Amino acid sequence: MIKNIAITGGTHGNELTGVYLVKKWQNNPELIKRSNFTTITQLMNKKAIKEVRRYVDQDLNRSFSLTDLANDGLDAHEAKLAKELNELLGKKGSENPKVDFIVDLHTTTANMGLSIVVSNQSKITWRAIAYLCKMEPALKVYRWLGDIENAFVDSMAPHGFAIEVGAVPQGVLRADLFLKTEALVYHLLNYVEKENSGVDLDLDDEVEIYDHEVLVDYPRNDAGDIVAMVHQDRQDKDFTLIEKGKPLFLTLDNKTIVYEGESKYTLFVNESAYYEKGFAMTLAKKKRIKV
Ligand SMILES: [Zn+2]
Repeated sequence: MIKNIAITGGTHGNELTGVYLVKKWQNNPELIKRSNFTTITQLMNKKAIKEVRRYVDQDLNRSFSLTDLANDGLDAHEAKLAKELNELLGKKGSENPKVDFIVDLHTTTANMGLSIVVSNQSKITWRAIAYLCKMEPALKVYRWLGDIENAFVDSMAPHGFAIEVGAVPQGVLRADLFLKTEALVYHLLNYVEKENSGVDLDLDDEVEIYDHEVLVDYPRNDAGDIVAMVHQDRQDKDFTLIEKGKPLFLTLDNKTIVYEGESKYTLFVNESAYYEKGFAMTLAKKKRIKV
């Protein structure tokens, strides 16, 4: 039984879809009201939202490791904010968390369409994903099982994931993608209502996913500055196969650098926020997994 779900927006202050969906629902709470659980909404990084920037001191969506949450010596705005949010929505790892399920709303400058980024392995999380894939066949699922602890916002709750929608420039609202994100959240709320009431959901027992494998950085000089950009043939090719020998980067002096690895799918191609993180795209394997 899921007693409550949190819809969080503005984890990144320049991703306006989530910010304005939360504002919409705070003004129209009946839209997210369902019969057998409670839905709460939360604007996450209000200071960053006001300044229309991703974060103030550090990425809030990497600030929820148990180690950092327990470290009172951290001074960054987002480190302190993470502790406040964990009191409100967690606590992470607790037997009695305030919220059972977190869906964290993001946008990306990459051509990711309507997608889910998931690190949680819980059965409820994956049944929700199976339901959403059934309702929205265009939905793609990117599974990220890192070898380090999941420090994302949704890790505060026992179940959850992030929704990533693109391509949207930072600081911009696009009505088409706003509506798609909104519809996906309503499907999720409908899923929870049906799951709680014990209806047979007739879900597929397998889901197609893109399983994270590799981060690909830009070619850089000795000073660390990038010396190439994503090749024009790879731009916007998210959830698209890349084979050995295909163009990957274009150097500033117009030389093509080709892909040397085995065939994989490219995701988050040329995402603006990842220049500073040191990756130009991620590579994933497509597979079907049991839910
Ligand atoms: Zn984001």
